[in-house]
Amino acid sequence: MTDCLFCRIVQGELPATVVLDTDRVLAFRDISPQAPTHVVVVPKTHYDNAVELAAADPALMGELVAAAGQVAETDGRDSVRLVTNVGAEAGQTVFHVHLHVLGGRALGRLG
Ligand code: 5GP
Ligand code: ZN
Repeated sequence: MTDCLFCRIVQGELPATVVLDTDRVLAFRDISPQAPTHVVVVPKTHYDNAVELAAADPALMGELVAAAGQVAETDGRDSVRLVTNVGAEAGQTVFHVHLHVLGGRALGRLG
């Protein structure tokens, strides 16, 4: 059994509110939403972060972005912020690559 939280969600060992499920990608609502739409989009295969994923399988990185677009459409958002934290100092807390899809409120400037 893996101790990776998002692998366990992908494997159905932990519950999640799934909004999109494809061959290689799963999207589910964040447990602690920071905006009216806050969904995390993950590959079903484990990579620690977006840089590792893009190096290993750039097409899958593209599938994540496309899935994020579908999630935005499902929630009726024509404007969203896609965020991926790479490394603990940047704020990454779950070391299974994920895109945050944030929308439904004014998000302001980054930094
Ligand atoms: P990070 O901080 O790594 O960029 O993002 C991790 C995200 O996962 C956080 O926004 C956090 O709220 C979310 N999260 C942590 N545990 C769970 C969980 O058990 N279920 C869901 N759906 N989201 C989680
Ligand atoms: Zn994982």
